Amino acid sequence: MKPDQLLYPAPAGLYCPAGDFHVDPMRPVARAVITHGHSDHARAGHGAVLATRETLDIMAIRYGPDFCGSAQAAAFGETIDLAGVKVSLHPAGHVLGSAQVAISTSGTRFGVSGDYKRSPDPTCTPYEPVACDVFITEATFGLPVFHHPGPKGEIGKLLTSLRQFPERAHLVGAYSLGKAQRVIRLLRDCGYDRPIYIHGSLARLCEYYLSRGIDLGELRPATLEKGDTTDFSGAVIVGPPSAFGERWARRFPDPLVAFASGWMMVRQRAKQGGVELPLVISDHCDWPELTETIRELSPSEVWVTHGREEALVRWCELAGIPARPLHLVGYEDEGD
Ligand SMILES: [Zn+2]
Repeated sequence: MKPDQLLYPAPAGLYCPAGDFHVDPMRPVARAVITHGHSDHARAGHGAVLATRETLDIMAIRYGPDFCGSAQAAAFGETIDLAGVKVSLHPAGHVLGSAQVAISTSGTRFGVSGDYKRSPDPTCTPYEPVACDVFITEATFGLPVFHHPGPKGEIGKLLTSLRQFPERAHLVGAYSLGKAQRVIRLLRDCGYDRPIYIHGSLARLCEYYLSRGIDLGELRPATLEKGDTTDFSGAVIVGPPSAFGERWARRFPDPLVAFASGWMMVRQRAKQGGVELPLVISDHCDWPELTETIRELSPSEVWVTHGREEALVRWCELAGIPARPLHLVGYEDEGD
């Protein structure tokens, strides 16, 4: 059988007919393998779910304990048999618990990257290359213009701003799963030891990271109750970008809005979002990481999904590797 008969995009998402399971399906299915907890990949309402312990815990935090019919945790590298198809999970380095999925069926081994990155991140297990015949890669930042700078240099910009504007509250926008904890951890690694204030929507996920041994230093709720006399001048407040348009954000003294995202490479996006201090910190591969990964794995075929598919497909063809876009829809990563 040809690879595209063994695994292919079905209406609900990438589907393996022999094992009767979907990877990161967009709508409820009987059996799902979930790469990580971001809401566009991990949805509630599936029958059976296979994922890492952390991803299952994160789904329970976000959707409640009954987020699926039955959950099965797999350790990294453990082989699970799904109706004769061998499935294993491997670190993707994207957020806590994030995994790539290796699928072996009818003599073909597929490597489904999920979202991944190669740059170091102490808040999750680092990416590990997974040998495969067909590599299915994401391409969120799949254009040659995307080169992400080192994250510590970006955090350095935030620390400089705190010194320059010691009276202003620094509101740092970061998606609630992964990016927020990474930004906090980066601040600690750069020597920032004051309490960091967090929006209420981050509390449970930050607590979960702490329970998995990821030290985030002293975190305090960034709530402004009536009569609260907390002085937020010069404080760092981390919250989801969506909260910055709310009344909540306008109560801080002379707020300076920063946003940590790979998209901050694009000046226009920062401007449109009213971001005064763009921080280019991405949880995805940039162009050099994507192309180096493909070179390193040297698969016999590459399928490109959710992102800028055409440029990477073209790059593969020029490198002599057959490639095609998958045109899977529905992934709008919440954790870029
Ligand atoms: Zn993601």
